[in-house]
Amino acid sequence: MSNKLLQSVSSLKGIGGETEKTLADMGILTLQDLVMTFPYRHEDFRLKNIAETPHNERITVEGRVESEPTIQFLGRNKSRLQFRLLVGPHLIKVFFFNQGYLKNKIIPGEIVTITGKWDRGRQAISGSHYFLGPKTDHVDYEPMYSLKGSLQQKKFRKFMQKALQEVGLDIEECLPLDVREIYKLLPVLEALEGIHFPKNAEHVKQARRRFVYEELLIFQLKMQALKKIRKEQTQGISISYDIQKIKELIATLPYELTAAQKRVVNEICKDLKEPHRMNRLIQGDVGSGKTVVAAIALYAVITAGFQGVLMAPTEILAEQHVVSLNEWLSPVGVRIALLTGSTKPKVRKILHEQLQNGEVDLLVGTHALIQPDVEFLKLGLVITDEQHRFGVEQRRVLRDKGMNPDVLFMTATPIPRTLAITAFGEMDVSTIDEMPAGRKEIETHWVKKELFDQTIKRMASELQNGRQAYVICPLIEESDKLDVQNTVDVYNQLSSIFHNQYKIGLMHGRLHSSEKDEVMRAFSDGKIQVLVSTTVVEVGVNVPNATFMIIYDAERFGLAQLHQLRGRVGRGSEQSYCVLLADPKSEDGKERMKSMTETNDGFKLAEKDLELRGPGDFFGRKQSGVPEFKMADLVHDYRALETARQDAEKHLASDEFWMSDETKCLRTNLEQSGVLDGDRID
Ligand code: ADP
Ligand code: MG
Repeated sequence: MSNKLLQSVSSLKGIGGETEKTLADMGILTLQDLVMTFPYRHEDFRLKNIAETPHNERITVEGRVESEPTIQFLGRNKSRLQFRLLVGPHLIKVFFFNQGYLKNKIIPGEIVTITGKWDRGRQAISGSHYFLGPKTDHVDYEPMYSLKGSLQQKKFRKFMQKALQEVGLDIEECLPLDVREIYKLLPVLEALEGIHFPKNAEHVKQARRRFVYEELLIFQLKMQALKKIRKEQTQGISISYDIQKIKELIATLPYELTAAQKRVVNEICKDLKEPHRMNRLIQGDVGSGKTVVAAIALYAVITAGFQGVLMAPTEILAEQHVVSLNEWLSPVGVRIALLTGSTKPKVRKILHEQLQNGEVDLLVGTHALIQPDVEFLKLGLVITDEQHRFGVEQRRVLRDKGMNPDVLFMTATPIPRTLAITAFGEMDVSTIDEMPAGRKEIETHWVKKELFDQTIKRMASELQNGRQAYVICPLIEESDKLDVQNTVDVYNQLSSIFHNQYKIGLMHGRLHSSEKDEVMRAFSDGKIQVLVSTTVVEVGVNVPNATFMIIYDAERFGLAQLHQLRGRVGRGSEQSYCVLLADPKSEDGKERMKSMTETNDGFKLAEKDLELRGPGDFFGRKQSGVPEFKMADLVHDYRALETARQDAEKHLASDEFWMSDETKCLRTNLEQSGVLDGDRID
């Protein structure tokens, strides 16, 4: 790298002292840092025609000042400056708030350029930018940087201009010529000019395209290189399963696997056979049939003489899994055991022995599985169901119980592909994107809250037919108490409506987990007809007789969660219904309700959610894991991401690519982040 690029910004005229500190605060130390600081957006300063500009839109006009500015004081440090401006044939008003100093600058008879929000009714602009003089001195697009302290955009642009003049020709090209030619991408200097000093809209667009691709390519190269290193370094076990036996098992299942299930089984088997450790996520919508895929994977491992583990987040779920697994796997001789918090010490002791001497092939359970005294003879595969319910630490402990067993995670929260390949870059992802044939769509209605009584009547008619129902109340984040209050209120209300006709159950986060299990079991056994609950009911529970769900204040939930909740019904052969009781105020909220009524497809909803909330919020604040990009935007640039992913895969496999002089800059970048070994290339 040339010395110029690494020169301190203080080598530029005008940067020192306070300014230098502010820049350092923004992470800008060298000239290279400066020119690689990208704006968060470009302001459009093109002149617009007043007659054609809609109400409330941003507009830039040039006109002659027609009146002396007047100032009106609006109390407490607030003022409004107003003058008239003649723009072509239109005489309009211009306001500026709290910019009294303009009074002496805006002079009747002179030409000024004004940008602001257009109020069509009042024929007025509420000004945000002004320029004394005609528009010709302006650029059409001005980059807006996110600056700190008292640093002004204008001043920052001056520094940028000087820096670019200084280092322009020294900036290294990261993208080889043929790559740029294929995608028609601008060379780096032209692209930088397009970002910082664009000639026109097209220039901005092309500049952005180039940096988006570059950023995503480097990201994908790093990610894939890391994955490769991890695979090479982690010693796993190669599992020689008996394919014939697996085929026989599949033939005994009560149904034909869907094409998606078959594909995922194949992906898993391939991983099992390889000597590296499998680290794979299976994502599939609620009801897409993940359990049977897990069963086949576990059986595969068992045919090779290993043991398997399936961990579920709740006791009920673990018990349900044991029932299914017994049905499928006992006939082929698999010995299955259950271990949960309620397993009696005596039974537990025997079980420990059986696990250690290999008399149990498959252990299903809850957190109880990760106690230190649970040891295996030969653990080969660990599967975690509803993986988001477990902490990273719990998953690690379980995995470490074997000699690097293969690990498989299952989740029913569909993640848009773009996010899956970025956020879960370190995992391989398998997707079951197809539902078993013959499923009935859950009929979903969005209803105003005032129609509560009618909704309850509708529910009653389902109950009369012997069906069961869920009533879900929202989680109120600020207060656990309110949350409980909410469900208790609804519970009381329903209890008084139905008197002794139907039994109502109550479930919320304040209950002890054994109490929760008890309520859930009563519902599952049909002893309770209506279950009033917070979202704790969300995970995997299977009560096929429940056909009706009411979600209170549905606008408070995100799309992913609404979809998860809805998945509790529609599990049997009867038609199921979901009613969203909601009066959303925001457009966003309305959009969400509408989406829910329009589709049952979790992946479609996930895409919609991503679009509405953006990638940062998608997983909730806690566990985002989505990288921050300078230029790229995962919602809009998903095609570029996919292209970059494929290209990175190709490049990493090609020694030729890395030998070329043109990739030197990429190579340095990867070496610096420790994912590329310098030896390999030279
Ligand atoms: P999830 O992916 O939500 O865990 P499950 O594994 O519980 O879904 O499957 C839901 C239901 O669909 C179960 O009753 C299961 O036996 C059934 N199922 C799974 N695969 C198929 C298939 N290929 N054809 C028909 N039914 C299936
Ligand atoms: Mg499941």
